[in-house]
Amino acid sequence: MKEFLADEPCACEPMGGDHILTELPYKHASLAPHIDERTMQIHHTKHHASYVKKLNGALEGHDDLRERSAWWLLLNLESVPESIKTAVRNNAGGHVNHCLFWHAMSPSGARKPSGALAQAIDRDLGGFTEFKKAFEDAGKKVFGSGWVWLVADDGGTLRVTTTLGHDNPAADGLFPVLVNDVWEHAYYLKHQNERGNYLDGWWAVVDWDQATRRHARYTAPAP
Ligand code: MN
Repeated sequence: MKEFLADEPCACEPMGGDHILTELPYKHASLAPHIDERTMQIHHTKHHASYVKKLNGALEGHDDLRERSAWWLLLNLESVPESIKTAVRNNAGGHVNHCLFWHAMSPSGARKPSGALAQAIDRDLGGFTEFKKAFEDAGKKVFGSGWVWLVADDGGTLRVTTTLGHDNPAADGLFPVLVNDVWEHAYYLKHQNERGNYLDGWWAVVDWDQATRRHARYTAPAP
């Protein structure tokens, strides 16, 4: 995987040895009606917060690892002791993935990809309409809890993929361009069992300016 995340906000750097809950770049109510305020509040201040708390708990007494970003921990699990590896994998993943998810959305911003990202979606995924269909289908098929992603491989080719639990495709060398959370806690209050309705409505709050910037950074030639 290219070294691309040194100054990435979702590297999730600790402050004074402790991981801290990501601040949202908008209010909990700002994505309504597509994602209601109550869902956002619980998702952010209870679910995401619990992953941060459990990550800090797992790292207690491991001073060398407490200085590392959650992103680094995810990509270097072989350096994490066996006794805390599962907790670190799940909770560092929960922290990073939710940060990426919050930043994938916005109450404003472009609702379609542009520039090089739009061209790459046309080239690799058959266009925006086909991409959205593939992304929704993949999200619907995640069995249990997980995530659906638009990723770029080392050569810059885009694909849609999914992960279970809080795994992140970067562990397999794939760069996350866009992500949606398909855990039930992301949609159950509003949509109950209808995950497909949530996936379909989600496009109305996706921030394609952000995705376009992430993609451009990743595909830019190394300085
Ligand atoms: Mn979640």
